[in-house]
Amino acid sequence: MKLSRLLSFLLVFYLLGVSCRPTTSPSPAPLPSEPSPTSASPGLPRATVSPTPAEGALFSEAADFVFHNGFVYTVDPNRLIVEAFALKGDRFVYVGDYRGVQAYIGSATQVFDLGGRMVLPAFVDSHAHATSGVSDLYEVSLYGIDSVVGYQQAIREFLAEHPDLEALRGAGWVNQVFGPKGPTAAMLDEVAPDIPAVLYSEDYHSVWANSKALELAGITKQTPDPEGGVIERDSAGNPSGTLRETAMDLVAEVIPPYTAEQYLEGLEYFQGFAHSLGITTVYIPSLPGGLGEALEALRKFEASGKMRIRFPMAIGINPEDSLTRVDELRQMIEEEKGGYYEIVGAKIFMDGVLEGSTAYLEEPYLHMPDSRGELLWEPQKYNEVCAALDRAGIQIHVHSIGDAATRITLDGFAYARQQNGRRDSRNMITHLQLVNPADLDRMAQLDVVAVPQPYWFVVDTYYTQAVEYVGRERADRQYPMKSFFDRGIVVASSSDYPVSWPPNPFYAIEIGVTRTVPADLGDIYVGADFKTPLNPQERVSVEQMIASFTINGAYAAFMEKQIGSIEVGKKADFIVLSQNILQVPATEIHRTKVLLTFFEGKEVYRSEEYTP
Ligand SMILES: [Zn+2]
Repeated sequence: MKLSRLLSFLLVFYLLGVSCRPTTSPSPAPLPSEPSPTSASPGLPRATVSPTPAEGALFSEAADFVFHNGFVYTVDPNRLIVEAFALKGDRFVYVGDYRGVQAYIGSATQVFDLGGRMVLPAFVDSHAHATSGVSDLYEVSLYGIDSVVGYQQAIREFLAEHPDLEALRGAGWVNQVFGPKGPTAAMLDEVAPDIPAVLYSEDYHSVWANSKALELAGITKQTPDPEGGVIERDSAGNPSGTLRETAMDLVAEVIPPYTAEQYLEGLEYFQGFAHSLGITTVYIPSLPGGLGEALEALRKFEASGKMRIRFPMAIGINPEDSLTRVDELRQMIEEEKGGYYEIVGAKIFMDGVLEGSTAYLEEPYLHMPDSRGELLWEPQKYNEVCAALDRAGIQIHVHSIGDAATRITLDGFAYARQQNGRRDSRNMITHLQLVNPADLDRMAQLDVVAVPQPYWFVVDTYYTQAVEYVGRERADRQYPMKSFFDRGIVVASSSDYPVSWPPNPFYAIEIGVTRTVPADLGDIYVGADFKTPLNPQERVSVEQMIASFTINGAYAAFMEKQIGSIEVGKKADFIVLSQNILQVPATEIHRTKVLLTFFEGKEVYRSEEYTP
């Protein structure tokens, strides 16, 4: 991963200061279940099947665009594969065979011969921090560089490209390049003397600060090491420029927060990036910090008329918030309604992350036998918040990594249902690194949408660390996937961008099928094992992976009637691919390129490689 998965961990402790250790509450009696409409993987007709014109057509007038001679995998309920479709305005008006599409060709219709290429509905990423696009623009990346001179060179170049920066942020340096005391402020002063500079290490456990940052933060010889942190010092006791763990917080305030204009630039950049990867809908799980600037940027983006992407979103609710926060959320939902971004849910952090020893586990950590990790909510309070959110019709989106955290998460969903009766809640649980098999059935009963990050289903340094922290048995059953599909649980895949970078769905589709690091992605996966699959019994099919990035993602955001499949009457969001991922070997899927992306009937991306 370009960025450490510890980002989630940092977010947790940025947002929350609370930790408590209550016991698991008892499971309620199973509730009746009904089959979910979107999780099935029915028999897949591979031959071209055409609906009759009456079924396939909406209007019999000329279309704006006609595409034909394609392998169009529609992801409709029957998983039909057709060869042609027509668009008018923002919708599909015909989906079927070549003969049928002829009726839609008028004098002004643009006709595209797909040359046999594969077409899919455009992708939905069900958990990605799109507002972090600003970091791709305004933060220097030191990833993959392994010398002091190399870091200095990268910083010099970055500052030359961004002469107006008031502060320098960045990440990616590694401790091995320096001595045990880490990098020095003097090294950074050589290239960044005038503005504060705060650069995170690759694992986000240390900060490299320049003299200006130390000065603005008031860190001197007299400053004591904070509890749980270290200020590295020279032989005279002066701070030398490296801050470890909680000492990193000392410089957090010297970097000004991003402005709404910077967030807007980041969103525009992210939109283009997403289109080039075939993504037109992104569920944003939470907004950064006090959410003011990011929300303002979203409003401006919408008002600019340049928005060509949908952002369903969740807004954070924290353990220290009172229940009136639910009313505030309800009000925000009403206020922000009606555009391409909208608030649909509330985001809750249930625990931390495994690599921070903060994921909340049923059994203790191996390296910390007294600890089962951190539960961030008191269960009774969480249950009441769930019930209140549910009563207000607000979807609940929970970050849960550990098996004990997921159990408590489900207890809250069950409690809400007990209080309010069953409703179409589509509550989401994301990450799901360790799941007790007994809870899989509860997830199905409670109509939970599973939101995994298949990018992480591999053997790399995270796996090695997991073995060390929780032992091989637990490490080897990380990240269930097939188990969800087998129980009819709706699975909506996601990247957790910028944690996974790039958020390329074809990487995730391949990994979901192989559970192995794709060939030549070694610069993304540190310590990659290209041969050994992670938990191979959880492998799923290409078709299931496609569903998880299309119709299921649409369902997770309550948009399945509008998007997620190529069907008459739906918004014309689709992509044309460089190769047919149902026909190439699974280990080749990550090489797939998006050639064309359409959003609501309009072309929004065309690859240089595309030749019509
Ligand atoms: Zn996230």
